[in-house]
Amino acid sequence: MALECLVYERAQSYKEELSNKRLSTWQPKQLLNILLELNPNADKTSTISFGLEEEKGVPAKEMKLLGTDRVISLKEIKEYYDRLGSYLHAPTIEQAMQGKGSPGQKLRKSCEDLSNIIDSSLRSPVWNSDFKMTTSIDCEDCGTKIIRRVHKGQDRFEAVCIECSARYILTRTADDRFAWRADTLELACEGSECGEKITVQRQEIAENRAWTCRACGGENAIVLGVKFTPRSTSSPG
Ligand SMILES: [Zn+2]
Ligand SMILES: [Zn+2]
Repeated sequence: MALECLVYERAQSYKEELSNKRLSTWQPKQLLNILLELNPNADKTSTISFGLEEEKGVPAKEMKLLGTDRVISLKEIKEYYDRLGSYLHAPTIEQAMQGKGSPGQKLRKSCEDLSNIIDSSLRSPVWNSDFKMTTSIDCEDCGTKIIRRVHKGQDRFEAVCIECSARYILTRTADDRFAWRADTLELACEGSECGEKITVQRQEIAENRAWTCRACGGENAIVLGVKFTPRSTSSPG
């Protein structure tokens, strides 16, 4: 299906960020979701133009339009999947009797709309334009190389290791690079007068997760707590 080809085509330019996993193992919708997480702009149509800047940083007065990269949005894909999908299943007898589910003008309209979008997407002069600026680290947990592209104006964002789901927070530094920090928390041993700290990935925090303290040998477990505050005495009775 042409819709799927468009998604896979787009994913090709994200091979590195997808840790070179085989693209075919993902369903288009799933893949598009991952792409969106990698690059929020992947879903948007962008117009690229260029011109001579007379003053540095000030957009040139005369911009030459390079073209528009028409990207099928996740919303559109979902919409057409659902719309076309409902025609692919045979109607129930009841639906057929009510005249529902019979492919008629509606289906033709959906197909025409879709073909127009795909057409403009493929004729896009700057197809999958990709001016790439990336930052990378080797995952602290599993060693997989994590590569993420960075975007103008984006000073802080999160990245998730595709292999082990470790989360990182990236922040732009003064010299315009990116600092990676594992999204971790420090937990202290609750043993009296122990307080030995451990560092855990934020996504590992879950009820009933436990650890043995390396200092005192005691067991610590993460539990749900309830906090009680007595009724205020000044409140009207
Ligand atoms: Zn990892
Ligand atoms: Zn302890």
